[in-house]
Amino acid sequence: MAANGHPPSFFENVNINFDKAAAYTNHPQGLLDQVKICNSVYQFQFPIQVEDGYEVISAWRVEHSHHKLPTKGGIRYSEDVNEDEVKALAALMTYKCAIVDVPFGGAKGGIKIDPKKYSVHQLQKITRRYTAELVKKNFIGPGIDVPAPDYGTGEREMAWIVDTYMAFNSGSIDGQACVTGKPITQGGIRGRREATGRGVFFGIREACANAEDMKALGLKPGLEGKRVVVQGLGNVGYHAAKFLQEGGCLIVGLAEYEGAIYNLKGLDVEAVVKHRKETRSILNFPGATNMASTAEALELDCDILVPAALESVITKENAPRIKAKIIGEGANGPTTAEAGEILNRKGTMVIPDMYLNAGGVTVSYFEWLKNLQHVRMGRMAKRFTETSFDQLIATLEQKTGKMFLEDERKKLTHGPDEIDLVNSGLEDTMIVAYNEIRERKMTVGCDDLRTAAFVSSIDKIAHSYIELGIFP
Ligand code: NAD
Repeated sequence: MAANGHPPSFFENVNINFDKAAAYTNHPQGLLDQVKICNSVYQFQFPIQVEDGYEVISAWRVEHSHHKLPTKGGIRYSEDVNEDEVKALAALMTYKCAIVDVPFGGAKGGIKIDPKKYSVHQLQKITRRYTAELVKKNFIGPGIDVPAPDYGTGEREMAWIVDTYMAFNSGSIDGQACVTGKPITQGGIRGRREATGRGVFFGIREACANAEDMKALGLKPGLEGKRVVVQGLGNVGYHAAKFLQEGGCLIVGLAEYEGAIYNLKGLDVEAVVKHRKETRSILNFPGATNMASTAEALELDCDILVPAALESVITKENAPRIKAKIIGEGANGPTTAEAGEILNRKGTMVIPDMYLNAGGVTVSYFEWLKNLQHVRMGRMAKRFTETSFDQLIATLEQKTGKMFLEDERKKLTHGPDEIDLVNSGLEDTMIVAYNEIRERKMTVGCDDLRTAAFVSSIDKIAHSYIELGIFP
């Protein structure tokens, strides 16, 4: 309970988790305060023309930490956007970037609209005006602050943003790096669309690979046959569900805002998405049982629960009823601090958002690098690698007198394309960061991965400030 008697807000929840972890560090309070606060908060309004007149739109951009520049974070379109939420999400971005060693400070943006209520033309006007406001106040730029997609936004909005930014900065050689998550034709990178969900998959796979940790949860190591429930079938949830299914999991429950479905024999993710597109609802999927509310799905009997929609869906009310042994936080802030404590006491493994959904910002970092380098990853090395491996195979064949099959030769001599490099860079990042957090949990002696992740990122950010000479 917060001091005002209300449940803690989203940003307060982030800071409760921060304070818990800060107690495991020995940084001075002033330095911890600097790490925790939001450096810049820009709140603004602008009018747009609608059918019957004008409407004033509220928007935010928050840069949480300038210890590294540019700052980075998505833009959310939702009726629920408010300053507290944007600050919380910006703070999470700072900690997230530190965990996966992406050299950015955290930021976040939000526009308080329900995008479903506007035409594409109106959404374009809103996005372009929002970008112009950021340009005016120096809140966007390749070395300043670099937005990306989040809830309610995607490649289309990012294309409008880069186009508007370039209109204000014509001739800027690095201008494309002002935003990530763009379509490939506009300077985007292959693999960004599915990066967050793929990262969720890599993170859960790494956690499940540890035999000791799985034994403690009463589970077998590996993904094979693990029963999974996913809430939210958007960018993050859909891709996470798809990769987990491909990795051997049984998707037993899927939840959207209109309701949820389950089938203990497993649901085919692609078929459910097709059904939802055709009928405009997830409900009544052949062979599955309907659940009236999405919240109920969180309490289904399963091994892994992936909340991938919005924040604060696991609270102190429903936490005691959650049966999953592992919660993989695809969304930002799905578990309140109080719920987190209940889950810790129950022995549930919570793989925290600030690590698990960092795949998006990791590949956004690759996109930013691509834009600054002005060359597609793999372009310089692909042919050279293929020729070298070809020569190696030919020499092996000559020395051994045995010939490789055509398929084997093709596989062995494949030079990396952009997508290969992106996915392998993402996989490595997620594996290294998971093991760093797990080891930190053991050395620090805390009871959960979230606290360990916070300790690790607080240390990294604090050292940045010390190295900048701002703190002794
Ligand atoms: P999205 O807009 O693509 O998808 C969100 C989905 O959740 C939609 O299909 C929506 O209908 C559904 N939804 C809304 N309310 C729901 C409810 N009550 N129950 C069930 N489903 C509901 O958004 P996204 O980009 O997938 O983001 C989802 C979460 O992941 C957010 O918390 C976001 O901050 C976080 N995240 C996104 C990215 C990214 O790269 N897109 C990166 C990191 C974190």
